[in-house]
Amino acid sequence: MDLSIVVPIYNEEENIPILHERISDALIDSGLEYELILVDDGSSDNSYPALKRLSSKDDRVKVIRLRRNFGQTAAMAAGFDSASGRVVVPMDGDMQNDPLDIPLLLKRIDEGYDVVSGWRKDRKDTFVNRKLPSILANSIISRMTGVHLHDYGCTLKAYRREVLDDVNLYGEMHRFVPALAHQVGARVTEMPVRHHERLHGQSKYGISRTMKVILDLMTVKFLLSYSTKPIQLFGRWGIYTLCAGMLSGAATLYMKLFENTSMNRNPLLILTAFLLFMGVQFIVLGLLAELSARTYYEAQGKPIYNIKEKINFV
Ligand code: UDP
Ligand code: MG
Repeated sequence: MDLSIVVPIYNEEENIPILHERISDALIDSGLEYELILVDDGSSDNSYPALKRLSSKDDRVKVIRLRRNFGQTAAMAAGFDSASGRVVVPMDGDMQNDPLDIPLLLKRIDEGYDVVSGWRKDRKDTFVNRKLPSILANSIISRMTGVHLHDYGCTLKAYRREVLDDVNLYGEMHRFVPALAHQVGARVTEMPVRHHERLHGQSKYGISRTMKVILDLMTVKFLLSYSTKPIQLFGRWGIYTLCAGMLSGAATLYMKLFENTSMNRNPLLILTAFLLFMGVQFIVLGLLAELSARTYYEAQGKPIYNIKEKINFV
C-alpha cells in the first residue's frame, strides 16, 4: 500500500460523497495503491450511514466508528493506528483541504522528507477569530519548538509511516506532530496548499480551541525539553527559592538578635515564610512532574479513543 488518507468525520454527512469523489478523481491517474480511512468521531447526523454506503461500493474506503465523540486528534490517531500505507496523509472532511494537493505532498516525501506540512497561504477563514489567533499561535509554537512552520494548524500534511509510530497523540496535539517528529530525527518541510471555504455544515470549533492549543503547547514544550527529568527543572528553582528563603531568614534572625529590630508586622518575616514555602512547593511539584512524566511514558500503549466498529479492514 502506497498511501493512506485519513479523514476525521464529525457530522459531515453532506460532505462525505463529494469528499470521496474528489479524492478518487485526484488519485485516479496516479497509479497509487491507496486506502481512504474515514473515522466517524461519534457523529450525531447521518454521517455513519453515508460512510457505510460508500464502503460497500468502494473497498478502498475503510471506516472506523468510534464509540463517542473523542475529538479530532483522537479520531486522527485512530486512523493513523490502522493505516497501512507507506505514507499517511490526514485531511479535513469538509473540503477545506484540496485532494489535488495530495500528489504534490507525496512528491516532496519522495524527495526525501519525512514530514511535509501544508501551509494555507491563502486561508479562507475569518480574520479576527481564526486567522489572527493562528498567526500568533504559529509564531509562538515555532519559537518554542524550534521547528519553524507558517501553519501548524493545517490538517493536510504527509507523513512517512514510521514517523507516526514514534509519536503519541492526545489533546489538540495532532498539529504538533512535525515538532515531535523533528525531535526524534525526522526531516520536516512545508509546502503551500490550496484552501477553500467549508462546503457544507458548520465549523466544530470556536475561540476556546485556541486556549486549548496554547495549553497543549506548554505540555509539548515540556515533553520536548524536560520529558526525562522534570525534577531538574522545578527542583532547581525550588532550591534557589529555598536558599533565598534561608538567606532572608538569616537576615531576619540577625536583625532580631543583634540589631534589636522589632519583628512585629515586619515584611521580612512574610518574605521568609513565602520563599521557604514556595521552595518546598516547587520541589514537590518537580517530584510530581517526574512521576507523571514516567507514567506518561509507561502509559503510551493506551489508546485515546475507543472503537465500536471497523469496516473493510482485512
Ligand atoms: N472533527 C472531528 N471531531 C471533532 C471536531 C471536528 O472529527 O470533535 C473533524 C471535522 O469533521 C472535520 C475536521 O475535524 O473533518 C476539522 O473540523 P472543522 O472543519 O470543524 O475545523 P475548522 O476547519 O473550522 O478548523
Ligand atoms: Mg473546516
